[in-house]
Amino acid sequence: MEPVKLTAKDYKTSVPIVWCPGCGDFGVLNAMHQAAAELAIPPENLMVVSGIGCSSRIGGYVNAFGFNTIHGRALPIASGAKLARPEMTVWAAGGDGDGYSIGTNHFVHTIRRNSDLTYIVMDNNIYGLTKGQVSPTTPHGDVTKSTPMGNPDRPLNPLALALELGATFIAQGFSGNVKHLRDLIVQGTRHKGFALINVKSPCVTFRGRQEFTVVREHGVYLDESHDPSDWNQAHEVTQWSEKIPLGVIYKIEGVPTLDQVAADLQEKAREKQHFESTKDLLRIFH
Ligand code: SF4
Repeated sequence: MEPVKLTAKDYKTSVPIVWCPGCGDFGVLNAMHQAAAELAIPPENLMVVSGIGCSSRIGGYVNAFGFNTIHGRALPIASGAKLARPEMTVWAAGGDGDGYSIGTNHFVHTIRRNSDLTYIVMDNNIYGLTKGQVSPTTPHGDVTKSTPMGNPDRPLNPLALALELGATFIAQGFSGNVKHLRDLIVQGTRHKGFALINVKSPCVTFRGRQEFTVVREHGVYLDESHDPSDWNQAHEVTQWSEKIPLGVIYKIEGVPTLDQVAADLQEKAREKQHFESTKDLLRIFH
């Protein structure tokens, strides 16, 4: 019998979506539904792990296994899920506050270990769920509820940080271009290793609708002149200040993933155990 072809609709759930009308996260959700269909992942083989925040509600809106975890902890839990069930596709998701502030330590170590999962960060430069406080990616000088005189800090650059840490796949998308974002999620999921997909996903309530215009005006889609296997080119792109790079910025293959390393260790431990027990046995007979 022919397998049933799944469509984006099959990955929707009946959970009511409580985001503000116009929130950028709707575009990300649509891209995730479409990417899952394109990859033909049976829902029972897909897991979406999220942290806490507006965007972290996304797990409930995807027909898959879902785990809405604790603040900043999506990555270690997603890594654990992948270790326990390496045959599953694991997506981690959340916002810039969740991933780049509370969860920074996990961001660092998940990249270092090259866990085989796709991390979709809905970067809106603000804490939306708690009503508009400064986040690690809020631009310097911006007025927020918690920085009425302007943000005194310089923003964190997640693309540059991931590159320095040795991430094996780094991309940036825009929730206002669902098709392009879908393709990035598909590529990130097919990549064997940790894939960061930072998404410019405006918070219309606390940063305004003009954020979509900002990305449309300053976004530059990377074309064939950009070689994602070239670290230096990728580095240059991550340092752009006026333009916003969109596309696959960096990608290398062949770096062992955490689940591969763990499987090798298990195998070695089994061999060692076998060797030791054989030695003990021989000792008895001599
Ligand atoms: Fe989206 Fe901002 Fe509303 Fe949260 S507060 S749902 S991020 S628009």
